[in-house]
Amino acid sequence: MKDETKCLHSGYKPENGGPGVMPIYQSTTFRFDTTDEIAAVFDDPTKAHIYSRFTNPTVDCVEKKIADLEGGVAAMCTTSGQAASLISILNIASAGDRILSTSAIYGGTVNLFAVTMKKFGITVDFIDVDASDDEIQKMIQPNTKAIFGETLTNPSLQVLDIEKFATIAHKNNIPLIIDNTFPTPILCKPIEFGADIVIHSTTKYMDGHALQVGGVIVDSGKFDWANGKFSEFTEVDESYHGMIYTRDYPACPYIIKARAQLMRDFGCYPSGMSGFLLNLGLETLALRMERYCENGLKLAKFFESHPKIETINYPGLENNKYHALAKKYLPKGTSGVMSITIKGGKQEAVKFMDKLQMASKEVHVADIRTCVLHPASATHRQLTDEQLIACGINPGMVRVSCGLENIEDIIKDFEQALS
Ligand SMILES: *Cc1c(COP(=O)(O)O)cnc(C)c1O
Repeated sequence: MKDETKCLHSGYKPENGGPGVMPIYQSTTFRFDTTDEIAAVFDDPTKAHIYSRFTNPTVDCVEKKIADLEGGVAAMCTTSGQAASLISILNIASAGDRILSTSAIYGGTVNLFAVTMKKFGITVDFIDVDASDDEIQKMIQPNTKAIFGETLTNPSLQVLDIEKFATIAHKNNIPLIIDNTFPTPILCKPIEFGADIVIHSTTKYMDGHALQVGGVIVDSGKFDWANGKFSEFTEVDESYHGMIYTRDYPACPYIIKARAQLMRDFGCYPSGMSGFLLNLGLETLALRMERYCENGLKLAKFFESHPKIETINYPGLENNKYHALAKKYLPKGTSGVMSITIKGGKQEAVKFMDKLQMASKEVHVADIRTCVLHPASATHRQLTDEQLIACGINPGMVRVSCGLENIEDIIKDFEQALS
């Protein structure tokens, strides 16, 4: 099936006479006839749903749909993108290990990696997205367990050369984890370019309507966890009745382990209702992404020709530094997210934002409605000036998330605010 079809038909298949719309299983627990049947699920957690702290039938359907869209073999939803990032790392690294991450990533992830992971004993090294093969290789140490990066970086909008990072990761027998939040699988499927694990903040385009915070982790099923570097996958898990993940679940040991160990212990799992709402967003994802790209490009061209705009950063524009990479990795378009710098710096940027009438000022991006944000005073407030620059953020930069209103109305609002 093509993406538009998968958005509507993957994950949930109505039974004869069953509901046409995916039902909401809003239940903490599931009933069994015999004690033995419950015991069997404790031996093999893939057998049935037992408790909604780590599996739920509605969420399960959504997980299957997202895995299918990304070209992966399994997925696990989380209650936020942050939880997805956290679990994606903790599933393969523990105290004493290192992770190599590109420095241009979401501000919340920078904080998670540089501050909180450090307290767990995991060191995250940072490298520029444009680093050469040699520079990347030099940063990999024997205890480096993964490389992490974003397809289209938030908010600096750099396009990651996924193949380059995947090749180096695989040469070192470690996986590449890609945060694919902005493109969604409609605009880019990182697994096709060598990514091993794909994560998302579903809060953004996937949910699409600014309804709820959520995340997901997708397993490509392609990484060899038995290569000698990941003993937790090949040795007996005493906390799970002697399970050996690579032996017992050869198709998707990564997701099974993440669910059996980390989701069991952390419990950041969405409810049936949350799964239902996320699915509703996913049903129109392909259609919406097309329009975000169309509106986004028109708005970017408007900014490009406006005398009060100093810079416009949108990889869909031909003179953008990342346009060639965007053509390779994001051939259908580069979403509705862009950033602009207004002439006059920070003060003028704030003044411009306050003059907008329709576009909302909010801490969000990839909303169905057009919205704007000043990263230096909001999402990236905790970063030092050096960290801001490393993330590709100018203090006067405004991030614009072009919505699905009529493009003429969107441009009209920005035009009056600029004048
Ligand atoms: C928003 C975002 C996150 C964090 O997701 P939440 O759902 O807000 O926890 C992670 N990565 C990227 C690229 C994001 O845009």
